[in-house]
Amino acid sequence: MPHQADMPHNLLPPVGADASRGCVWYVGAGPGHPDLITVRGLDRLARADCIVHDALVPAALLDRGAPTAERIPVPRDSSDADPGDTTGRLLAKLASSGRKVVRLKGGDPAVFGRLTEELRPVREAGIPFEIVPGVTAMLAAAAAAGVPLTSRSTASHLTLLTGHEAEEKATSLDIAALAALPGTLAVYMGVGQAARWASQLVAAGRPTTTPVTIVSRCSWPDQRITTTTLGACAEGFATHRWPSPAVIIVGDVAVEGEGVPPAPLAGKRILLTRPAGQADDLAAAIAMLGGESIHVPVVEIVPPESWEPLDAAIRQAGTFDWIVFASVNGVESFRGRLRALRLDARALGTVRLAAIGAATARALDEAGLECDLEPGVSTSEGMVEALLPTIRGGRVLLVRADRGRDVMRRELEAAGHDVTEVAAYSSRPVTSLDAATIAHIERLPIDWVTATSGVIAESAARLFGPWMRSWRIASLSPITSAVLRRLDRPPDCEATDPSPAALAAAIARWEAARPAVPGEPSPSGQPSRST
Ligand code: SAH
Repeated sequence: MPHQADMPHNLLPPVGADASRGCVWYVGAGPGHPDLITVRGLDRLARADCIVHDALVPAALLDRGAPTAERIPVPRDSSDADPGDTTGRLLAKLASSGRKVVRLKGGDPAVFGRLTEELRPVREAGIPFEIVPGVTAMLAAAAAAGVPLTSRSTASHLTLLTGHEAEEKATSLDIAALAALPGTLAVYMGVGQAARWASQLVAAGRPTTTPVTIVSRCSWPDQRITTTTLGACAEGFATHRWPSPAVIIVGDVAVEGEGVPPAPLAGKRILLTRPAGQADDLAAAIAMLGGESIHVPVVEIVPPESWEPLDAAIRQAGTFDWIVFASVNGVESFRGRLRALRLDARALGTVRLAAIGAATARALDEAGLECDLEPGVSTSEGMVEALLPTIRGGRVLLVRADRGRDVMRRELEAAGHDVTEVAAYSSRPVTSLDAATIAHIERLPIDWVTATSGVIAESAARLFGPWMRSWRIASLSPITSAVLRRLDRPPDCEATDPSPAALAAAIARWEAARPAVPGEPSPSGQPSRST
C-alpha cells in the first residue's frame, strides 16, 4: 500500500488504485504560462473525465486534458454569500457519479483559493481527493523580477496577505503587526486597494521609502514589472497603470535582486502564417526568446495536379545519384507515395539523399532515411554549391513544389547534370478567413507577421489587407523580401539565414534597436523605477 500514513488528509491513494471510483484532484495550474504546471498536475489533467476550471487558466492547459473530457468553467469569484461552496458541491456531484474530476485552479490551490469551502462538500460525501500543488503567483513573481523573498540580512520571514480585505470592516488583517514585522510582505489581490493598505502600513510605522516590486500578469505575454516605494503606493501610484492580476512584493528584498534581463521578445505577439502543421519550429524559436505566437495559415498544402511524375520517379529512384528534397512537404509526399506504390526504402538502392533545411533533414530521419547532405546555407543556391563538387555528370531528382524558382535545375544542368524535376505538392493560397479567426485578430494586438515564402507573402497581403500595414513584417529570405517590396509591404527585418531561429533572432534584433516610445510603458519584463 502506498504511504497512507504520510497522507492522513488525502483519502486518495496514488492514482489508479480504484479505477471505478470517482475522485477529485485539486490541481494548481501555476500563474498562467502553460509550462508552469507540475508534471503531476499534467498527469491528473490527462486522466480526468471532467475539468472544472477557473476562467483564467490558460487554454493551452485545458488542451492537455483528454479530448473527451468535459470542461466546466466556474466564475473566478463565487458569490461572496457562498464563496466556494457552490463549486465544492458541483465537484462532489460530478465525482459521486463515478467521474475523475480535476479542479484546475490558478497558482496553488491552497493559497487564497477557497480550498476549505471547495473541499467541504467533497469530504462530507466521502469522496477521495488529492491536492496537487502549483506555483503560486508570489513565487513566480519573485522569479520573474529576480528578487529573493527572504534574505539573510534583511528578511528572515515572508508573509502572504490579501490586499482586498483591507477595505472590509471585519478584516482579520492586523496592519500594525504586519507593519512591525521586519520581513517581506507579498500582497495578493492588492492592486485595487493599494493606496489603502499602503497608507495603513505607513501610518503604522513602515517607512515610505520601503521598496516595492509589482509584478502584473506574471508569466502572461503582457507581463509587467515595476519597482516603486510604499510611499508612492500610498499616494495611489499602483492603482492606475498595472492591470490585474498582480502581486506586490513589499520589503527591502525588493531592491536586493539584480533584476532579470527581459526576454528579447517578451510581450510581443507574432502572427505565423505557414501551412498548418509547419509552424512548430518557428513558434518554438519565438517562445525561446519570450515571445508569443499565434498561427493563422495563409497557404494550404494540397496534392499536385497528378501523382504520375512523382510515382514514375519513385519507381526508378535507385537509378539516380542524388534525390534532393527542398522541403518537409516534399519528404512527406515522397514517403506517402512510396507506401502507396507498396514500396519501401529498398526501392532507393544506393541513391544519396540531400535536404534543404534542418526540418527537411529531420523529416527524412523520421521516415527512417538517412540524410547524406544538408548544406549549411538552406537555399537552392546553397544546395547547388554543396552538390557540385560531389558528382560529375550525375542524375539528380529534385522533389519540390509545383511552382517556385528553378535555380537548382538550371545550375545543375549548366554544370552537366541530368536533372529530373517532379512536383510533390502544391501550395494553394487560403482565400478567406473564418469569423473566429477574424475576431481573434481584431481582439488581440499583433506586433509582427512573418513571411516565409513569396507565396505566403502574397497570400498574407491579400488576406490581411490593411491590418498588415499596422504590423511589423519579418521576412525569411531576400527572395521573400523582394516579393514583399513588390507588394508595397517592405519587410522591417530579414533573417540572416532562412531558418526559424534566425527569423526569431532578426525580430529580436529589431526590437532591441527600437527607440523607446515616450509615454509607452517600459518594455515588459523590464524592471523600471517609477514614482
Ligand atoms: N491561488 C492563486 C491566488 C488566487 S487569488 C495563487 O496561488 O497564485 C488571485 C490573486 O493572485 C490575484 O489578485 C493576484 O494577486 C495573484 N495572481 C494570480 N495570478 C497572477 C499572475 N499571473 N500574476 C500576478 N499575480 C497573480
